[in-house]
Amino acid sequence: MDAIVDSNVIIHSSKIRKLGEIYTVPGVQKEMKSQDASRKIQNSGVNLMKAPEPEISKVNQVSDRINSPTSKVDEKLVALALSTDTKVISDDKGVQNLALHLDVDFEGFMEEAITEERKWKKVCSRCGQERSNSTCRRCGSESFERKPR
Ligand SMILES: [Zn+2]
Repeated sequence: MDAIVDSNVIIHSSKIRKLGEIYTVPGVQKEMKSQDASRKIQNSGVNLMKAPEPEISKVNQVSDRINSPTSKVDEKLVALALSTDTKVISDDKGVQNLALHLDVDFEGFMEEAITEERKWKKVCSRCGQERSNSTCRRCGSESFERKPR
């Protein structure tokens, strides 16, 4: 097992076999809407493996703590890397940041990888109040945005 990759790497790499024995999570295949992309996974020799629940929940906890803007699939990629002690290859800064917070090895694919941990806070998009609940305590709005901490 040489690396865990995301959908972007699979789509854009013509030399994915050169990366070695490559894995991704089943969610990535579902994420790829086009048949071409989905076929590319099958033809690229990329293996599918599910991330184990304990690691998924560990990654979720870190993601919640830092208000990470990552998707469930992103978090499963990092969880698979965590459980197998394998590096992640991704240009997604959110994936890289989660890996950084969890001491998982990672590298960028076409862009340089981040080197510093990032955190976000959730703020109300109507009144700007920082919040942890789904509705704003000050104005009751349910919409929020993430701001770098
Ligand atoms: Zn508000």
